[in-house]
Amino acid sequence: MKKIAILGSTGSIGTQTVDILPAVDAEVVALTTNKRINLLEEQARRLHPKMVCAFDADAARDLKVKLADTDIRVLTGMDGLTACAAESGADIVVTAVVGMVGLLPTLAAIDAGKDIALANKETLVCAGELVMRAAREKGVKILPVDSEHSAIFQCAQAAQGNRLAKIILTASGGPFFGWTAEEMRGVTREQALAHPNWTMGAKITIDSATMMNKGLELIEAMWLYDIDPADIEIVIHRESIVHSAVEFDDGAVIAQLGLPDMRLPIQYALTWPARVPCKVPRLSLTEAAKLTFYAPDEAAFPALGLARRAAAQKGDRGAVLNGANEAAVGLFLAGQIGFTDIAARVAQAMDAIPYQPAVTLEDVLAADAEARRLVLA
Ligand code: MG
Repeated sequence: MKKIAILGSTGSIGTQTVDILPAVDAEVVALTTNKRINLLEEQARRLHPKMVCAFDADAARDLKVKLADTDIRVLTGMDGLTACAAESGADIVVTAVVGMVGLLPTLAAIDAGKDIALANKETLVCAGELVMRAAREKGVKILPVDSEHSAIFQCAQAAQGNRLAKIILTASGGPFFGWTAEEMRGVTREQALAHPNWTMGAKITIDSATMMNKGLELIEAMWLYDIDPADIEIVIHRESIVHSAVEFDDGAVIAQLGLPDMRLPIQYALTWPARVPCKVPRLSLTEAAKLTFYAPDEAAFPALGLARRAAAQKGDRGAVLNGANEAAVGLFLAGQIGFTDIAARVAQAMDAIPYQPAVTLEDVLAADAEARRLVLA
């Protein structure tokens, strides 16, 4: 039986991970949340982990009271999150927290030899070089949960040692597909939070609307599959049926298809290489009937170009891009800046912060902090 730690178990990916657990032969050893302690308590009583963490200190104090009649350890903060990742006895850690906060616990888990079911793309965007090197050194598997990267991973099972010549990364295009930059200027929080195909957390939904999500995924794919970012093509696919595809040197293109439902990629990361029944609705090609594909409008969605620039330059650029974006999305969600200001703020940070080619963990954390400081100033 596999021992699983779920970081961010009360979020969108976390709750869907809990939902598919019966299909996976697994025992949960750790669960974490930021502040959603009512749901965490419910999960803890059902799954009996050894330890739980509420990142927020006040929330952790309340959670401790709620779980006082159990022998579950209640932790808090980055130390607590890291302990849940690395010291809970897990074989595999599902990293479903949102943002850069996932980096240190992921590195600690890799260092402790745990496999990673990676749902926290910001980790690879900020520190892909460090994370992938650590995983190689420790012989740890990084199993992608992001639907596109899971699709690429599934297609890559056909590689049999051959290289991927190209990755075709599909994007729904979000709620503002076909809009011009001018038309997006007055977009409200509510409009940006209404994604056509996927129900997700607020941060990733805004990233989907700006298409920064696809930019972050391009960088994520570059690190996961060790591929030149110039060989990753982003294609708008409104129906979200083709979750991504790979091309081999002979020109064959292998794609993974399915209805948009995160439970399959989550489950595959936990059962790979086995495939077991999954409670997702089945795809009918005749019902889908028509699949459409478009080139992205990089003028209307400047986040794509910024991410391409960060991918090509590597070094600390991913950390700067991501830190600036997290801060700018926070400002937009708080009603303090407009929708098109998000990419503008990221561009300003990338222009203002001097480029560092080689990165240590300290450099990544410093670049992230500097980018946030600039955006929030
Ligand atoms: Mg995705």
